Amino acid sequence: MNIPPYPRPSSVNDVVHFRTPTVEDGLLFCELNEEQEEQNTTQFLNHIQNLDKQGGKLNDSLYWTGEDRRTALWWIFIATQELPTAAVSYECEHCKEEHYLDVNLAELANTATAVKALPKSEITCFIAGEQVSKIKVQPLNGAACEHIETLRNIRDQYAYQSIEWRKADTEMTLTELVHCLTFPNQPSDQDEALNWKLERIKGMALDTEFRTLYAQVESELRTMRHGIMTQYKDGRFLLVSNQKNCSAAVEAGEDQSKLLLLPFRHNDFIPTL
Ligand SMILES: [Zn+2]
Repeated sequence: MNIPPYPRPSSVNDVVHFRTPTVEDGLLFCELNEEQEEQNTTQFLNHIQNLDKQGGKLNDSLYWTGEDRRTALWWIFIATQELPTAAVSYECEHCKEEHYLDVNLAELANTATAVKALPKSEITCFIAGEQVSKIKVQPLNGAACEHIETLRNIRDQYAYQSIEWRKADTEMTLTELVHCLTFPNQPSDQDEALNWKLERIKGMALDTEFRTLYAQVESELRTMRHGIMTQYKDGRFLLVSNQKNCSAAVEAGEDQSKLLLLPFRHNDFIPTL
């Protein structure tokens, strides 16, 4: 079972070659930890590349967008599974029962989009009254996703909604935002740049400057949608799938189809023994 060459959805001329996962690969990834999903994703997507077909060069998935990475896991999964289905359940508000569905993940190809290059995006905003322009907006890459995952793990050491938890949660939200921004005059060192940007964002007026920036970034990122349809929430990617709605829900006036968010657990997608 060969995996077709994978054109990265954010940059389709960049084609990645994967080899078919072996028993040995399965052994290597036998201890997957849900808390380190993004970290494991980087390791897996790098490990499984067919370097011979790439002129000996690794195409480091750490620098792919989060969507390119998730779509790659899905790509490998549907190419290597005879029945690429995922069991999903949800609690129906109408029957008050749990509904079980087998979602054919190959169908998610309908939701996929790919581009030659992501649209360039620059925004202008106000920081503590000062106008700053030419701030580039870009989607999260693998390194950023790994970082946010680490921050979520730190946050979740605290009791849910405690002061410490909420502080860490805010830090996580702000970090996610600044990972999407490149300022024209930010320090060249990555870590320094991150702290520099965080300090600037923390100095913004909350109700005006910050909320405007947040909305601007969200709207710019929407123009850059690529890969299969996913939703990034709380440091995790979820798959968005359109499914037949329950008959009781349709009778109650809902649509024939229902949008379901499927957990995109890496242990379902990375083959293990
Ligand atoms: Zn129902």
